[in-house]
Amino acid sequence: MAKRTKKVGSAGRFQARYGVRARSRVRNVELIQRAKHVCPNCGHQRIKRLSTSIWHCGKCGIKFAGGAYIPRTETGQNIEKMLKGEVEPPKVIEEQPEEIKKEEKTKSSKQEEKFPEEPVKEFEDKGEK
Ligand SMILES: [Zn+2]
Repeated sequence: MAKRTKKVGSAGRFQARYGVRARSRVRNVELIQRAKHVCPNCGHQRIKRLSTSIWHCGKCGIKFAGGAYIPRTETGQNIEKMLKGEVEPPKVIEEQPEEIKKEEKTKSSKQEEKFPEEPVKEFEDKGEK
């Protein structure tokens, strides 16, 4: 097919609306989103986007969840490495649950102390009136 637009590409449907920057961002995302990507299973360039984050290979038929607009995101690849054990997960994740547990213990102990005191005060008030 003949090339319809010189530079706006898929964002040409917005005509003059929404500003140059927003339109160029849409174009850059949609170029990647609509392109055929290399299949991680068979290696052919046949991966197409079926829906948000769902990608399908027309050659080998593999269907997998990836990024919303890219088959594999940088974050997803980092997590895959952590799951394989190639990279150790950051230590921050291990430290967080201990702090939360300590906070929960202090909160729960405070609540336990308050609950028995409150009904006793009510009884004393009623007795005085
Ligand atoms: Zn494939």
